Amino acid sequence: MRTLLGSIEAGGTKFVCAVGTDDLEILERVSFPTTTPEETMALVIDFFKQYDLQAIGIGSFGPIDIHEDSPTYGHITSTPKLAWQEYDFVGEMKRHFDLPIAWTTDVNAAAYGEYVKGHGKGLSSCVYYTIGTGVGAGAIQNGHFIEGFSHPEMGHTTLRRHSDDLFEGSCPFHGDCLEGMVAGPAIEKRTGIKGQDLEETHPFWEIEAYYIAQVAYNTTLMFSPEVIIFGGGVMKQDHMLEKVRQEFEKLVNGYVKTPPLKEYIVTPALVDDPGTIGCLALAKEKIR
Ligand code: ADP
Ligand code: ZN
Repeated sequence: MRTLLGSIEAGGTKFVCAVGTDDLEILERVSFPTTTPEETMALVIDFFKQYDLQAIGIGSFGPIDIHEDSPTYGHITSTPKLAWQEYDFVGEMKRHFDLPIAWTTDVNAAAYGEYVKGHGKGLSSCVYYTIGTGVGAGAIQNGHFIEGFSHPEMGHTTLRRHSDDLFEGSCPFHGDCLEGMVAGPAIEKRTGIKGQDLEETHPFWEIEAYYIAQVAYNTTLMFSPEVIIFGGGVMKQDHMLEKVRQEFEKLVNGYVKTPPLKEYIVTPALVDDPGTIGCLALAKEKIR
């Protein structure tokens, strides 16, 4: 009999729920809008009740409590999404499913997906950034997430400002942090145009690449990962990757010898699936 696993990619706008096998094949996938915990979780629970699952992996928007010995383990903590503040996500799932549950951030899950089945496969380290509605990242070293008192929050680090950029930034906490300068809503607020509708020739993309290259540069110097993967809606701009690589090369200025940039700075091999594959893989780890 094949082993069925559940995956929840809990995002700020939608929850993507999937059922897959322990070969990490996705069999079924649905998506529910993120409204209130009552509404959204009722749909999630009904969906999974249809299957005889062995484990569930959750990658959630955050910040979240990841410490198993903490009284609020499994909770979403200080999110700006008020309805979900201090929400006991894992506790609610445990009330409905007597199963092992893997719990991590959305970006850690995506990093893990690429690590086991994408550009990180066969390597011992990778860092995954998403640049979408928000910015976040997960880092893996020897199969483990890099974390300490909590999970990293690499989406809110600081940047050196581009000399042509006067935008004040859109992060409600920090203004012009990384997320406040490069995420989709920052692009729209600054240019008045959604990223997907902004011409490839628009001068803003040079500024965006200048910032994302700094992210790759800082990541390189701090973690020296074997690959840096940039996912999320904004990176659907095919021309961005090459711009980022060029700016990165200028920043590094020969100081460190990285792997060839075409293999080092990449978009996800799993395209839109790194989070789902990662959650399935983390669920599978729970039943080993
Ligand atoms: P989420 O972060 O909500 O999971 P996405 O990663 O798709 O979802 O990010 C959505 C953001 O990315 C929006 O702000 C949107 O304007 C922007 N975006 C989506 N597609 C593109 C595109 N092709 N080019 C540039 N920006 C895009
Ligand atoms: Zn911020």
